Amino acid sequence: MLRIGLTGGIGSGKSTVAGLLAARGARVVDADRIAREVVEPDTPGLDAVVAAFGREVLAADGALDRPALAAVVFADPEARRRLDDIVHPLVRARAAELVAAAPQDAVVVQDVPLLVETGQAASYDLVLVVEADPETRVRRLVGRGLTEADARARIAAQATDEQRRAVADVVLDNSGGVEELTEQVERFWAGRVAPAVG
Ligand code: ADP
Repeated sequence: MLRIGLTGGIGSGKSTVAGLLAARGARVVDADRIAREVVEPDTPGLDAVVAAFGREVLAADGALDRPALAAVVFADPEARRRLDDIVHPLVRARAAELVAAAPQDAVVVQDVPLLVETGQAASYDLVLVVEADPETRVRRLVGRGLTEADARARIAAQATDEQRRAVADVVLDNSGGVEELTEQVERFWAGRVAPAVG
């Protein structure tokens, strides 16, 4: 098994790279998606969140009211830590299960937005970082429905390109078009993935 940690700032193109790697046969384990799954209705995760933050973080249908929870933790770093202490261990445990279930010869790509912020680089055979210049990222995030102020605030709250580069084995530049990105993914696969898995 080859384990690749994929990261990059919000709007850099991680999900796009994950899709390109999946098309070449990689198994993608997506931390954001798991983070939603572990707090779905009728999960111990959602029970723990309600125990910590009260029923006001539930929508009328009993599912998590994400905007309500986001409003609570955005204003209060201590609340954010309490939420992270509930959700992060559940995400890691579920990700570990999915990795363990992959075949021995699999290429497993873990899409982890906060890989650098949470100090997980050493858990992977290769750390793959996607970069795009900040203005391009803001434009893409606005295209995805964020306000410009929100996009800038989220970028500012994350690690810097320098911090991500410091732990990267390979950096992909996604400041250009998808075609250029695809070529870089092909080179990465041929140069670093295929030789490692035989
Ligand atoms: P991340 O997962 O890092 O937040 P995404 O892969 O979701 O980033 O990309 C952010 C947005 O930008 C998406 O809407 C995506 O379709 C778009 N996008 C990604 N790469 C490119 C590119 N090279 N050119 C144009 N749009 C892109």
